[in-house]
Amino acid sequence: MAPGVSTLPPPEILSRSFDVDALRSEDGVVVALDADGRITWVNDAWARFAVSNDGEAVLARHGLGTRYVDGIHGPLADYFARAFTRVQSSGEPWEIEYECSSPETFRLHRMRVLPTAEAGLLVEHATVEERPHDRAPEPPVEAHYRDEAGLLVQCSNCRKVRRVGDGWRWIPAWVAAPPAPPVSHALCAACAGLYIERTRQARRARRGGAT
Ligand SMILES: [Zn+2]
Repeated sequence: MAPGVSTLPPPEILSRSFDVDALRSEDGVVVALDADGRITWVNDAWARFAVSNDGEAVLARHGLGTRYVDGIHGPLADYFARAFTRVQSSGEPWEIEYECSSPETFRLHRMRVLPTAEAGLLVEHATVEERPHDRAPEPPVEAHYRDEAGLLVQCSNCRKVRRVGDGWRWIPAWVAAPPAPPVSHALCAACAGLYIERTRQARRARRGGAT
C-alpha cells in the first residue's frame, strides 16, 4: 500500500519552486504540506521508510491528508506547530536534529522545513548519524514501568520509558512495538532540558531579530 502513495502527482504549487523529480528520488524523506499543515505529497523515500517502520502505523499518523503535527505525540507537537508557523510567516527555513532510533540502531536525523508557494511547507529528513546502540537492552518489565493507575509514560522525542521512581530507560521492545495502553507522552529529563533550551534560544533569536 505505501509504495503506491508516492506515485501521486505533486501539487502544482510545489512544482513552482522545486524540481519535483529530484525531490521524488532524494535519499531522504520529503513531505509537502499545504497552508493548513496537511500532507499533500510524499517522495519515494517516505514510502520506503513507512514500509520498513510498521507501515500501517506510519500511514495512520502521517498519511496523505493528515495534519503533520497531529502525528507528533505529547508536548513536542506544540513546539513543532509553532516552528512550522514561524517558517510560514517569516519565509525563513528552520532545522532541527532529533533522535529517531530503531530497537537495534541509534539514528540521529535532521529535519529541515522550507517555505513553498501559498504558505505551504516542504519537510525534509536526512540521516546525520547511524550506529549500533551503545546502551545495553533492558527487558520490558511492565511492573517496573506502570504506576498505580497502570499508566506508562514514554518520551515523545527519544522514546525512553519512565521507570516508576527511577528515571528513564531505553526499552527496545517498546520501540519495536508501542506499549499497550494506557500510555501517555512526556519528555524525559534529557529531552526536556534540550527543548527548554531550544525554546529559550528561539525566543532570544526572535527578540534579537526584532530590534
Ligand atoms: Zn527523551
